[in-house]
Amino acid sequence: MSQTELKSLIKDMCTSLNDLIANNDDITKENLSDFLLNSASLISGVSKYDLDSYQKSKNILQKEFNEIANQCLNSYEKTSFKFSELSQIHADTLIECTGDNINIPKLSSKFTEIHTYMLDEVNRANNVISELTQLVQTLEKKSTIDSLTKVYNRGSLNTYLADLCSNATTSYDTYMLILDIDNFKKINDSFGHIAGDKILIYISNVLKKTLRDGDKIFRFGGEEFVIILNRLGEKCSVDIGNRILKLIRNNNLIYMGKNISVTASIGVTKFKLSDTTDSFIARADNALYKSKNNGKDQLTLELAEDGI
Ligand code: GH3
Ligand code: MG
Ligand code: MG
Repeated sequence: MSQTELKSLIKDMCTSLNDLIANNDDITKENLSDFLLNSASLISGVSKYDLDSYQKSKNILQKEFNEIANQCLNSYEKTSFKFSELSQIHADTLIECTGDNINIPKLSSKFTEIHTYMLDEVNRANNVISELTQLVQTLEKKSTIDSLTKVYNRGSLNTYLADLCSNATTSYDTYMLILDIDNFKKINDSFGHIAGDKILIYISNVLKKTLRDGDKIFRFGGEEFVIILNRLGEKCSVDIGNRILKLIRNNNLIYMGKNISVTASIGVTKFKLSDTTDSFIARADNALYKSKNNGKDQLTLELAEDGI
């Protein structure tokens, strides 16, 4: 939820409150108190994190990546110019040193010159590449968005869960789904890493399309995603998980003319007040482990034994 959306939510509440008072002659203190309590609970459910709008973070990441890409192109342009200069020197050398009298010492000294020139240029290009790689790594660390799939990254998940655990509330339920792509190593081995990357992008798009605005999607690890559902019950959370699995299972992915069949497994759990980041993740992970052990391409729900 963006700050604008929050403002409009508060404005709607004020309008509803006005309507409630204006249209009910027999309004009681209890009616008003219920309304205000509901509104307060809705607003307190909007965490600090919700206000850090996804679109804003994505735009910053995109802008900084574009700057690095431009630096990369400029540097490439210079290198390619230097190499065309080099091929000119090469051509001139051949004309100068060949002909009726081949000048071996001159030819050999020119080749050494060209060799040194080329080595300098390659070294310079390598330095530029490692500087730019460093910039991309720094950018990825400070960003909240995963650069490949454009969902929130692992660092964001840690911040989100720390916030959730320290402001734990009973006013609504929170469910966590961990999704892990099945046999992904085999897919990478058979179709290549680029096909694997495209599948990660495809899965994150399925998640973005299936979930509502308030739901949070994070890339947890290589081929694992965490989804946080707020204000939904157990049946709804399980149904959403199964719907995602069905969409992935029924996909028709074609890469370089070959069909790739992809499935995933999900573990689901409900947040309890005494949870820490680790205990919440561990329970969902345990449920995921059961889905894998029972044959993959399925969802398992695991609730805390005490439930509190
Ligand atoms: P399981 O069904 O038990 O989950 O098996 P799996 O093969 O999916 O799991 P495993 O942990 O053995 O392998 C995960 C693979 O995911 C290994 C790794 O190379 C791949 N991977 C991790 N991150 C990326 C990525 O960003 N891109 C690509 N293409 N592959 C990745
Ligand atoms: Mg995994
Ligand atoms: Mg896997």
